[in-house]
Amino acid sequence: MLITQLKSKETIEALAKGKTVIINCHGCKEVYFPEQEAAELQKELSVGGNVTEIITRDYICNPDNLRFQLKKFEDKIKDADTVLVFSCGVGVQTVAAFLEDKKVFACCDTCPLPGFQGVTPLEFDCGQCGECYLNSTGGICPITACSKSLVNGQCGGAKNGRCEVNKDMECGWERIYRKLEKLGRLDTLKYEAKVRDYAKPFKESKDEG
Ligand code: SF4
Ligand code: SF4
Repeated sequence: MLITQLKSKETIEALAKGKTVIINCHGCKEVYFPEQEAAELQKELSVGGNVTEIITRDYICNPDNLRFQLKKFEDKIKDADTVLVFSCGVGVQTVAAFLEDKKVFACCDTCPLPGFQGVTPLEFDCGQCGECYLNSTGGICPITACSKSLVNGQCGGAKNGRCEVNKDMECGWERIYRKLEKLGRLDTLKYEAKVRDYAKPFKESKDEG
């Protein structure tokens, strides 16, 4: 189980550009999720007519389940400019990998919950850092896909695309670069990564980014 909280309204509004499909996950995160606030915000986003579909499913972190659940929305998703995901970081990464040619954005931050984390075999991992970076990294988590959890780019040690710390894995930052290049979003890398606030998950205020 994970705890998620909404990013700020201004952040989410700025992400909803062009035709937008929203995907909500009603898996484990709903326990601590402000459902009503999210529903009201999505209603507001829909007013202009840009939101073409709101999909609510459970356990989108399971790639097979996700593929099956999104099948009937294929046309709407194909036609969309943006996909907004209201789920934990694992769910967003799963959607971003499945819809690899789409701009997929996280609308929530995922915070730590001490204790048992469940048994679902997941392809992706979330370090529950409380300030989700996926919107700047093409949906690939810099905390878990980089051995050093770097949030401001590559360390420079990769060789032939492999991580210098763990040669069994691809360099996360090379993956991030390739993904952003494919999406035509390399300019995103010009963001200034703020010093990471390790206390953020334990604060009440919402993320501004
Ligand atoms: S950046 Fe990574 S660790 Fe942090 S909330 Fe997002 S998916 Fe989880
Ligand atoms: S080689 Fe890549 S994945 Fe490995 S620590 Fe450096 S930046 Fe991170």
